[in-house]
Amino acid sequence: MMPHKFDFDLFVIGAGSGGVRAGRVSAQMGARVAIAEDDQFGGTCVVRGCIPKKLLVYASSFAEEFEDSRGFGWNVEGARFDWPTLIANKDKDITRISGAYRSVLDNAGVAIFEDRAFIKDAHTIHLKKSGRDITAETLLVATGGYPSRETEIEGTELCITSDEAFHLKKLPRSIAIIGGGYIALEFAHIFHGMGAEVSLVYRGPKVLRGFDEDLRDALHASMERKGFRVMLDTVLARCEPDGSKIRAVMISGETILADVVMLAVGRRPSTTGLGLEATGVAMRRTGHIEVDRYSRTSVPNIYAIGDVTGRLELTPVALHEAMCFAKTLYGDGPTAPDHELVATAVFTRPEIGTVGMSEAKALARGHTIDIYKTSFRPLKHTLSGRDERSMMKLVVDAKTDKVLGCHIFGPEAGEMVQLVAIALKLGATKAQFDATVAVHPTMAEELVTIRTKTATRTPAG
Ligand SMILES: Cc1cc2nc3c(=O)[nH]c(=O)nc-3n(C[C@H](O)[C@H](O)[C@H](O)COP(=O)(O)OP(=O)(O)OC[C@H]3O[C@@H](n4cnc5c(N)ncnc54)[C@H](O)[C@@H]3O)c2cc1C
Repeated sequence: MMPHKFDFDLFVIGAGSGGVRAGRVSAQMGARVAIAEDDQFGGTCVVRGCIPKKLLVYASSFAEEFEDSRGFGWNVEGARFDWPTLIANKDKDITRISGAYRSVLDNAGVAIFEDRAFIKDAHTIHLKKSGRDITAETLLVATGGYPSRETEIEGTELCITSDEAFHLKKLPRSIAIIGGGYIALEFAHIFHGMGAEVSLVYRGPKVLRGFDEDLRDALHASMERKGFRVMLDTVLARCEPDGSKIRAVMISGETILADVVMLAVGRRPSTTGLGLEATGVAMRRTGHIEVDRYSRTSVPNIYAIGDVTGRLELTPVALHEAMCFAKTLYGDGPTAPDHELVATAVFTRPEIGTVGMSEAKALARGHTIDIYKTSFRPLKHTLSGRDERSMMKLVVDAKTDKVLGCHIFGPEAGEMVQLVAIALKLGATKAQFDATVAVHPTMAEELVTIRTKTATRTPAG
């Protein structure tokens, strides 16, 4: 047998969502694979993203459930919440899941290096701790990202980001969250649900930029009703200590005094200090790695997947890109990831579930559209007495009758939209939605019973 030219066929940098999936599947397809990770296995999603976040979302949802239960005859007086218990239980589970990610790699025969990787040249990885150099035919960069810290703003070293929010020693009684994206809104609801006084400060005119306008309006109205302080068109100027609290001062001069100030102002790709520039890998001004449709960088044997490429920064997208990468290199041949009709949820209370085009995007793409929209009070709240409305909206192509987008604001919207995404992926028309018999009594039945067109819109110009 010919000796191998390189130590491995594939070296993966980063054992997060994308890296673990690509490493495991490539190994199962017969490649000799190594992976480097310098933190816990599982990456952002498992350690400081989706999973711990959803556990906190569950924890915070009990407050409203307890309130709502009264109208159904329950008495739950004296219910108490203990933050350290939640954090300890959460950490235990994260350690378990992280261990499972490591085992998956081990079982697939992937060589694991618990070390920080540096790209020395197109075929050589230098491991920082051990000082070893390892060669591979193909390199895959799956290093993810980290929360932006706005270091140019005075006093932001006093603030936390989502990374630290998972490890606060005690539950803040008051928190100011800077940002208007999904992470800011989810944490705002988490802390609000746990009883904290929450202020949300966002530089834009409306939260959740890029989402359908009706979702943005519905969420904003709901937050106002629940007693969040939402400050829009407001920019943080500086933070300063004030006794045991932090004072956040806005450019407008307004101030917020809070136990904790959290920055949720976007994420940056982990590309600095990785040796990419010297190797000639092209990057955008944002630091994201440029890739072609097969996730290949400007250096032919170096690929990149997941958040570091800044395509769609979601776990299932990183997993999908990983599968396509493995198929392209070690499977059936070139397979490009499909980024169309990716459903997503925002775990506020109630939730947002969305797939496909917003009304604005459909118009911008030249579609003449029919809008079907309904807003209603869920059955549960007739007895709970909660003043909460749900909203569902279909954006339909007026010419082809194809459903271009579905936007849901209501309980379990994330669960619902996953299934709607299948219908949209199959190219379902509004007539096919209408021909589907409802499940009763559910909220989802509204999706197949919205009969009244609320508007028809044509693209400008
Ligand atoms: C608070 C929060 C909530 C989120 N919620 C959701 C959600 O509900 N749904 C959803 O789909 N997505 C969610 N996301 C996004 C999701 O977590 C990411 O899209 C996903 O983790 C990206 O995977 P990745 O493989 O690209 O990178 P990551 O998971 O970030 O993994 C990168 C790994 O590379 C390692 N690494 C970096 N540099 C090196 C190096 N030089 N050497 C060795 N190792 C290195 C890092 O330690 C890390 O483990 C959330 C993110 C955050 C922050």
